[in-house]
Amino acid sequence: MSVSNAYEIARQEFDHVADMLDLDEEARAFLRDPKKEYHVRIPVRMDDGSLKIFDGFRVQHNDALGPNKGGLRFAANETIDTVRMLAMKMTWKCSVANIPLGGGKGGVVVDPRDLSVGERERLVRGYVRALFPAFGPRKDVPAPDMGTNAQDMCWFMDEYSILAGNYTPGTVTGKPVGGGGSLGRTEATGLGVIICVREAMKQLGIDSTKTTAAIQGFGNVAQYAAIHFIKMLGGKVKCVSCWNREEKKSFTFLKEDGIDPAFLMSITDAYGTVSNEKAAAAGYQVLDGDAWIKQDVDVLIPAALEKQITAENVGFISPNVKILAEAANGPTTLEADAVLRERGMFVIPDFLCNAGGVTCSYFESVQNDQNYYWSVEEVLEKLDYKMSTAFNSVYEMSVEKKAYMRDAAYMVSIKRVADAMRYRGWIK
Ligand code: NAD
Repeated sequence: MSVSNAYEIARQEFDHVADMLDLDEEARAFLRDPKKEYHVRIPVRMDDGSLKIFDGFRVQHNDALGPNKGGLRFAANETIDTVRMLAMKMTWKCSVANIPLGGGKGGVVVDPRDLSVGERERLVRGYVRALFPAFGPRKDVPAPDMGTNAQDMCWFMDEYSILAGNYTPGTVTGKPVGGGGSLGRTEATGLGVIICVREAMKQLGIDSTKTTAAIQGFGNVAQYAAIHFIKMLGGKVKCVSCWNREEKKSFTFLKEDGIDPAFLMSITDAYGTVSNEKAAAAGYQVLDGDAWIKQDVDVLIPAALEKQITAENVGFISPNVKILAEAANGPTTLEADAVLRERGMFVIPDFLCNAGGVTCSYFESVQNDQNYYWSVEEVLEKLDYKMSTAFNSVYEMSVEKKAYMRDAAYMVSIKRVADAMRYRGWIK
């Protein structure tokens, strides 16, 4: 099997932790590669009358713990290896969150900006028709991801329901509230990040009300992380940052006595870009995009995109930073991670830190299955329980094995999947 770099790295990370766990060969053989992969070709009649065929993938890495779960991506540079790597990561994420789901991921090779609304709907419906036997609430449950959104999920649900001959909302999550979606989903990921930070502070004996944070990004995850760092922990957020599409560079917005997330949200567009002029007029310092990482704060929260903490800038992190909460997916490169590990940084690894999103997606399918919907309070209370339990099981593993938190998170999740495979008789 040919592998690209990202997939090979994911396998190497797996091998590293498998060695630490002394995992047997049978479990390794199962888990190093996906259990099932689908490659389909989806014909779509375009608006100009021509026929275009799109390549689509669905990878089901492992379903020992329950139905596969993971997003559907529309990306021009999609490859089967990227989808494999992401499906494997979903297995670890669901397992570490201790939700009864396995790992999956899907992708279509397409730039969604090239599609009209009608073409997009036909592509989503075509994807479902091509893969109908693979999906279902008890088999594999996609969600929105890069390049797809809640509308796509509704078309997905509708097409699936037509083919199944049954209303089947639980076959996909990320649907809008009122269309089978769950309350609380918008804030779930950012809130989950702060629940992990709260639990970390308890374990490390830090008084949260005296702490400060610097956040990279000001989109969905960063906004709710900022709100709850202030509301739940009583701390101060010194800065957030964003990408400015017009200026084609990033900026940091800093206020020594703490930012006001509600005000900043009122001057932020739908893409998470804060207005420089309005922020400056309100007394914010508008600094370079990398200023967030240089702040003398207690907690750093990268919540923008991948590969942001690198060998080049990891040295800028203040010795006073006590916790790195990886809200984004893959924000730390392998080289930077080696430096942080050496330094003894307390890292809350991405697949634990941002698992609030998938946990709320799980709640969505549970509510769909029972056809009864919870209040937002009920959703967030359950989220708090799941996230704090997940954090503490990883923390306990790190203490027991004297392991770096990232390794401990992998150990917890790989062990759970391996145990489930053993219980089911897949391995000895
Ligand atoms: P988003 O698109 O809502 O926001 C992204 C933010 O990052 C925007 O404010 C953008 O301006 C900013 N940004 C982009 N490039 C930047 C740069 N170079 N410097 C500084 N800021 C920059 O995205 P989101 O949903 O908040 O997701 C953020 C991260 O969290 C991603 O890595 C995503 O994969 C991950 N994640 C999101 C969820 C979720 O539920 N939304 C769940 C799990 C993981």
